[in-house]
Amino acid sequence: MPYSYQSRRQSSGGGNSRSAYHAAPNKRRGRGPKHGDYIDPARFVQAARPRTEMAYIPTYQFADFKIDQLIKRNIEFRGLVTPTPIQDQTIPLGLEGKDIVGIANTGTGKTIAFAIPVLEHLLADPRAKALIMAPTRELAQQIMEEMRTLTKGAKLWSALLIGGNAMGPQLRDLRNNPRLIVGTPGRIKDHIDRRTINMLHFNTVVLDEVDRMLDMGFINDMREILQQMGSPRQSFFFSATMNASVNNLIGTFANNPVTVSVKTGESSDNVEQDVITYGSKEDKMAKLHDTLSSPAVTKVLVFEETQRNVERLHRDLESRGFRAAALHGGMTQGQRRRSMNDFKTNGVTILVATDVAARGIDVSDISHVINYAIPGSYEDYVHRIGRAGRAGRLGYALTFVEN
Ligand code: UDP
Ligand code: MG
Repeated sequence: MPYSYQSRRQSSGGGNSRSAYHAAPNKRRGRGPKHGDYIDPARFVQAARPRTEMAYIPTYQFADFKIDQLIKRNIEFRGLVTPTPIQDQTIPLGLEGKDIVGIANTGTGKTIAFAIPVLEHLLADPRAKALIMAPTRELAQQIMEEMRTLTKGAKLWSALLIGGNAMGPQLRDLRNNPRLIVGTPGRIKDHIDRRTINMLHFNTVVLDEVDRMLDMGFINDMREILQQMGSPRQSFFFSATMNASVNNLIGTFANNPVTVSVKTGESSDNVEQDVITYGSKEDKMAKLHDTLSSPAVTKVLVFEETQRNVERLHRDLESRGFRAAALHGGMTQGQRRRSMNDFKTNGVTILVATDVAARGIDVSDISHVINYAIPGSYEDYVHRIGRAGRAGRLGYALTFVEN
């Protein structure tokens, strides 16, 4: 190991322990300082173990699945032939109508694992309706894009219900009686309260990054949304990490769920992880400057811990001549969208963000994740670094640790 550190106390292990920070309601996120669990910095150092060392022999090819020809063509068009392990093991169960708890490492294709059964049911049964919930607006948007790609050419009304977007277009979409809704729990609950949506005829539900939604304080909204849904229904719970509150929710709302866990390690195997030690604040900034200037750092997501710190770091980087974008929950949805688009299209190659960008976001070719601020928990760490090294590529994670 290139780095050793005198641990102050045993790490809490990234298990089920929740910090006060995590229990805080959504509104407080990103505002005050974090008071997370202590994580032994030795855990931020790990050589990558690329997946080629662990060959998986799938049972199926996408062509084998008994699904609508249109979906099949779109999958083919997307260049997908062989399912990933989580897809291989959950798609057949999902097509059978089973409730599924799907656990697999970041970047291993969980979206398509639930998308195919959900879309197949929607195309096969004109009365079927599906709801997909995700913790952040950006992730909901990304899932919706995947759904639209896979149903290209089908007449399937859908609505994206996320906070920060104007109500007008959402109300118009809802009047079309959409059969697919993707959104964030807060805005969906809002529509239920305004009676602009009726969940009764929704018989499929997907909770993506479900543990995160609970951490963010969405539990009551989610319970109410699930209670409003019709039965029988099929439920999908997906994440790279689970916790006790998820089990609670599953216990209440799932029907004989099958758990498929294809996690091969604690953290993403495709990410080379190391730390950068620093002394003073100035030293920290100088080391970040050096790191960002390195030619190997081609596209980088830098995590800071509060909205204000993100703003400040973003400003500092720009004044040092770096082209960067910022992303945090205090920005308007228009600003958030612009930052994401700039980063996706390489208008900027540096995105400074709070944990709002830690989950699910799939931007190709992120070479590095830099934890300028230490994450609040080991789970957060795993999700953050999972933004690099996606879809079988090697990525790098660097965590700043005080000397
Ligand atoms: N992807 C892939 N093969 C697949 C499905 C997806 O290579 O069969 C790619 C996908 O385009 C995306 C990445 O893998 O770039 C991660 O997918 P996803 O966001 O669904 O992963 P998750 O983190 O949800 O497991
Ligand atoms: Mg995902």
